[in-house]
Amino acid sequence: MKIYIQTDIEGVAGFCYRENRANRDYENIQHRYRMYKLLTAEVNAAVVAAFDAGATEVLINDNHGSGYNIVFEDLDPRCRIIHGRNCSGPHWLPLLDSSFDAMILIGMHAMGGTPKAIIPHSKWQVNGGELYLSEGSMAAAIAGDFGVPTVMMSGDDKIAAEISEKIPDIETVIVKEALSPYQACSLIPARACELIAAGVRRGLKRLNEIPPYKIPGPVTLNLLDSKSHAPPLLEMGDDVIAPTINAAFMAYEKAMEWTKFDMEDLEEGFSFP
Ligand SMILES: [Zn+2]
Repeated sequence: MKIYIQTDIEGVAGFCYRENRANRDYENIQHRYRMYKLLTAEVNAAVVAAFDAGATEVLINDNHGSGYNIVFEDLDPRCRIIHGRNCSGPHWLPLLDSSFDAMILIGMHAMGGTPKAIIPHSKWQVNGGELYLSEGSMAAAIAGDFGVPTVMMSGDDKIAAEISEKIPDIETVIVKEALSPYQACSLIPARACELIAAGVRRGLKRLNEIPPYKIPGPVTLNLLDSKSHAPPLLEMGDDVIAPTINAAFMAYEKAMEWTKFDMEDLEEGFSFP
């Protein structure tokens, strides 16, 4: 059984404000490292539980910002991890394909514009507003294109509500109640990890009862966001139309200025991050 774990940091227990990567103050560096440790513990809890539940292969995608958030030397040595800045490899979800049996989402945050959610950002607009996806539900939809079900998600209560609406059978673990974009009532990390492990075990046990999350094509896609991530949210580019959500996502991302996909395609240019 092959498991793909997609990760972010905003939805981890104890995380409640945006990091400042440019700030070199000791306190800021300490704070960031502390958040990395919290994320690492939650991811590791999911990895160990996946192996307990019968996984033979676990692949982690360290997907927040720099792509170097998980203290990987502290992870269970049976797993593997993808790191490096997201949008600099072949895909936002590198190496994901139909050979995987399940996807797990750890540390997820709500979509842009969600009231009283922790650092809500990114709101994917599907078919002109027929449907909106967070980063978490986008990952689930891309996995769905590969026929891979998303069986478990952890994060705040707001993203849990959104994803449960779209994937009613998914196991969700709420590690904090969001009170505002910068304030939350959080579980203590040891408890959050315990619940995440239990959620992963339940999700993998019910694997065959949880269908892949599929969005029928063709898909018209746009991203609503703003520089500060606060409303008003605007379309970040032109609508993209593609036969599948995965193809639409890739076409949209490739057009974004921060994306450096296809390093192999030297015709399109290559630049070090
Ligand atoms: Zn993030």
